[in-house]
Amino acid sequence: MREFDLIGQLAARAQPIPGVSVGIGDDAAVLEPDACDLVALDTMVEGLHFKRDFSSPQDIGWKLLACNLSDIAAMGGEPRAYFLSLSLGEGADAAWVEGLYEGMRLAAEALAPRAACVAPAGGDTTGSPGPLVLSLTLMGKAPARGAVLRSTAREGDAIVVFGELGMAMGGLEVLRRWPQGDPGRARWPALLEAHRRPRALCRLGAALGERGLVHAMLDVSDGLLQDMGHMLRASGLGARIFVEEVPVHPRAQALAQELGLEAVDWSLSGGDDYALVAAAGVDQLEELEALCAQLQVPMRRIGVMEAQAGVRVVDAQGRALRGAWRGHEHNLGVKAGEP
Ligand code: ADP
Ligand code: MG
Repeated sequence: MREFDLIGQLAARAQPIPGVSVGIGDDAAVLEPDACDLVALDTMVEGLHFKRDFSSPQDIGWKLLACNLSDIAAMGGEPRAYFLSLSLGEGADAAWVEGLYEGMRLAAEALAPRAACVAPAGGDTTGSPGPLVLSLTLMGKAPARGAVLRSTAREGDAIVVFGELGMAMGGLEVLRRWPQGDPGRARWPALLEAHRRPRALCRLGAALGERGLVHAMLDVSDGLLQDMGHMLRASGLGARIFVEEVPVHPRAQALAQELGLEAVDWSLSGGDDYALVAAAGVDQLEELEALCAQLQVPMRRIGVMEAQAGVRVVDAQGRALRGAWRGHEHNLGVKAGEP
């Protein structure tokens, strides 16, 4: 496939995007002055973040947009136009790229509060002598009262998880253990779906931002405990996590049991779920519960913000647990492992 054929196709198909005066086709896009004030960027490298025999091009497009949607949601904002950098290696033909864009379109339709605003407004296309590298920059609009930061949690705040944890890790286990076509794989559709098409909580994030219902927030992309650590350091606090309250999905539980593993470990340190974690005043929990019920998002109160630095994971009796929970952190410059 040739670069200009691809760009021509994209330009021909492009619909006007609210907030974008000039989209694909000129040297730069022109955005309306007040259209966007948030920017998120996420890159996916073949072999590291995805494998073409684990996911379809539609799945990969969905996930590429969804991980950015999740970042904008974690700021309490609404997603807008996006920009895409494609470095395409062997085997990424026109049909593959078509599938990628289709997946992004499906994710925007399924997840974004205003799907018409979430469309490609530009990008860049090159070849790659090695793996496919896909990088997406998503614009967003912060709520009128300001973006929700990681650094503004308060001592005594409840720590709340919105959405599911550990399911994407379960899905990855399924893909690693059972090859394509094996009936083993077909037994775990919900876990595979969670791994391939994560449901970033865009509507919830935007509603939390607009109503000012949480003090601090971030999304869980690299594992709950690891990502919590970012909020704690930014806010100068520590946390107590009640392990019995950490969400474990029944399907993840069933798979882990079958494999002789602990599903709660996936919830504490598995990545790619794109749940949201927030620090909220205890007096706001009731309103949070009502909002989550309305949007049909599970919500769990899993802990409390404390002055003492560090994370303490405790059981129902308050005993501290020691685990080797580690989230996902990239070793820069080291040979890429499997996704
Ligand atoms: P230039 O050479 O001036 O940088 P390009 O030929 O790379 O311009 O791009 C022409 C137009 O096509 C620009 O509007 C650019 O944003 C858009 N574009 C290029 N690649 C992509 C892509 N993969 N997805 C969306 N838009 C793209
Ligand atoms: Mg260019």
